[in-house]
Amino acid sequence: MKITYENNQLILPEINCQCGIEHQQPDLDVYIGEGVLAGIVDYLKKRKLGKKALVVADQNTYRVAGAETMRLLAAGGLTATLCLLEREGELEPDEAALGEILLAMDPEIDFLVAVGSGSINDLTRYVAFHTGREFVSVATAASMDGYTSVIAPLLARGLKVNKTATYPQVLICDLEIIRHAPYDMVISGFGDVIGKYIAKADWILGRIINEEPYCPVAADLVSQAVEKCLQQFEGIKNRTPEGIKSLMEALILSGVSILMLGHTRPVASIEHNMAHFWEMAKLLRGEKAASHGTAVGVGTLYAVRFYSLFLEQDWNELELERIRQARPTKAAWEEGVKDAYGEKIGSLILRDNPKEYIDWPEQERRLQALVRNQRLIKEELAFLPDYETLVKVFRELGSPMTAAELGIDQETLRKSLLYAKDYRERYSVFKTVNEAGRLEEFVDRILQL
Ligand SMILES: [Zn+2]
Ligand SMILES: [Zn+2]
Repeated sequence: MKITYENNQLILPEINCQCGIEHQQPDLDVYIGEGVLAGIVDYLKKRKLGKKALVVADQNTYRVAGAETMRLLAAGGLTATLCLLEREGELEPDEAALGEILLAMDPEIDFLVAVGSGSINDLTRYVAFHTGREFVSVATAASMDGYTSVIAPLLARGLKVNKTATYPQVLICDLEIIRHAPYDMVISGFGDVIGKYIAKADWILGRIINEEPYCPVAADLVSQAVEKCLQQFEGIKNRTPEGIKSLMEALILSGVSILMLGHTRPVASIEHNMAHFWEMAKLLRGEKAASHGTAVGVGTLYAVRFYSLFLEQDWNELELERIRQARPTKAAWEEGVKDAYGEKIGSLILRDNPKEYIDWPEQERRLQALVRNQRLIKEELAFLPDYETLVKVFRELGSPMTAAELGIDQETLRKSLLYAKDYRERYSVFKTVNEAGRLEEFVDRILQL
């Protein structure tokens, strides 16, 4: 499936796939290109969004794109009201910010415009959803794949909550604006993208071992874009229009694949679990966590090393009886999860994943599937980049490569490598190796590399 453009509008491919998963055709217009913000009024008219807009920005995004958005809307004969979320430090997606947007929502407002990246989009998508309005997103950075998300991660009394919301009808990615975003946002976006390699590998593994539903169209859509990003990494580093375009494209197509399938399987697996684990560990200590994508990028490097050990292994010589005897009891495993995540979060994870602990017949079935299919697995996972290639790219980009660089100590890292797999039921290579009784050994080996 080829990605094409018509006057800077990304043509989302018609989904024609017999994989058995129910697909949704996302209903949104995406514009990517230099200077595309100038076309905003036309894009809005095409969607018949109305005349009165509430523009949500913080002082930074107002400066880089908000003021121009207001000017363009007024020049196009629309009424634009500004909701400026001014903060001393970073804007948090909390009750105060939501309240400010709601207070600015007069009944005659027809639609909202989010000018920004993560938090501003999440706040706006939540208010749009609950006030029954559409919204438009003006992207200011290629830092994450959540522009088209329907989930808003917000803060309620300081705790992170994921709330149901909506995606924008129009997404405007003006490369002139996005190119000039702070460089660490580029690093973050690249990390989020490079993690898709692991997501795909784990998904294929789940398909082969557990007959998990797999959509080749969604998988290809994402990997095509990710591949292009890796080839373009110098352009990304130098923030050329071409390079940033490939990054933005990969992030958006990742988001679109989630909309297509209604879940994040094509774009997130163990590397995201690791990033969440580290984020939670930091928050528990009252420290600030690294940005999402940067942590995902680091997690990807550990997972790639893990995969290379997995793929060079001969799985024919599994001693099933020894593995069976060494299996932890359910209680022991639950203790381990609570110890790794802390009592509170650990208990929630156990509650939300009731089928996570498998019995021996199921484990044995999976192991037999591994032995039987190991050649196929090696063939199908040959697309994974090797560790050295990725390290070279990360180094060139100046991206963090180790958990230590994210402020994660060695013990927390080891726990995350052992228990990130249990964060959700989603199957990953860490589960395969665990079920084969080799997880601790593999973890110790990658920590020594
Ligand atoms: Zn992500
Ligand atoms: Zn499909």
